[in-house]
Amino acid sequence: MGMKQPELKLREHGPDQEMGSWVMAGPCSAETEEQVMATARALKKVAGVKAYRAGIWKPRTRPNSFEGVGAAGLPWLKRVKREVGLPVAVEVARAEHVYEALTYGVDILWVGARTTVNPFSVQEIADALKGVDVPVWVKNPINPDLGLWIGALERLNKAGVKKLGAIHRGFSTQDNSQYRNSPKWELALDLKNQIPHLPIICDPSHMGGKRQYLSELAQKGLDLGMDGLMLESHVNPDQAWSDPAQQLKPEALNQLLNGLQHRNGNEMVNECEARLEALRGEIDYIDQELIEIIWRRNRVAEKIGEYKKANNVPILQVQRWKELLEDRIKKASGMGLNRAVIEDIYNRLHLHSIEAQAQS
Ligand code: PEP
Ligand code: MN
Repeated sequence: MGMKQPELKLREHGPDQEMGSWVMAGPCSAETEEQVMATARALKKVAGVKAYRAGIWKPRTRPNSFEGVGAAGLPWLKRVKREVGLPVAVEVARAEHVYEALTYGVDILWVGARTTVNPFSVQEIADALKGVDVPVWVKNPINPDLGLWIGALERLNKAGVKKLGAIHRGFSTQDNSQYRNSPKWELALDLKNQIPHLPIICDPSHMGGKRQYLSELAQKGLDLGMDGLMLESHVNPDQAWSDPAQQLKPEALNQLLNGLQHRNGNEMVNECEARLEALRGEIDYIDQELIEIIWRRNRVAEKIGEYKKANNVPILQVQRWKELLEDRIKKASGMGLNRAVIEDIYNRLHLHSIEAQAQS
């Protein structure tokens, strides 16, 4: 069983030998020619920035958000390339975007999270790229599904795209903590394990959603062996037409990049350690939730205690407790959990809740 190991035919591009030093930066969206040029000129001075990104067509979750300037912005990127001297990158979601971007000499394409989820769209892009030797970066799909991410890379590779890379931007899940998108590092590490030669860069901007989280996420990405970063940068982030809370002024980006620790090849944690670290992170997160749930359970027990007291009902009601315990053991063992362990846990929880009721 299990999935077949993907066999991708890749050619080198993008990230260089200095791990993590390859940065693609630029505004979430190209808004005006002035904003595009001013941001690009400022980013040209930031060490590490190797390519300029700007969204031209913006797939938005909700309508009535800014959906991008469209092809009108492509000549601006051509100017960036010619006058500033940075390779330019745009997001493509349809065949038409591919043709238009290539017509204007766009150097790098990326596939957005809302597109990677759809094999029809990815195939359309792949077909449009037949015979074209342009680097393509594939963002992880919105939902935590590694198969979709790999599938998109395979479709492009089958169409002949050999300069491929992946962008880890986090996932939309129920358990989103403080971040806009849950990193789920283990998925990116799994991709790295399955396709070791594929460059993967981390996108802390869409992962964090807020400026305050960018540096910790960027560092974590590098610590886990990512080959570089994609970061949103705008000359006037607070006035940005999309994603204002997560964009950095070019000077702030420079500061962030200077503050990062780069590890060389020898210091790199091996895959096994990195994987363990990611799984431990998951345990920490689950335990945090577990503690909160126990706390909530006790608050409810206190309320029951107050009610019983007001109505002269005894605290311990044996029949109710027996039924509850049987029900929980049945549910838990139905999920393959050990009966005795669940019984122990519930006995402790019950005592805890009786104490809470007695104190209320
Ligand atoms: C973007 O890069 O601006 C973007 C829309 O990102 P994502 O596809 O990761 O949401
Ligand atoms: Mn964005």
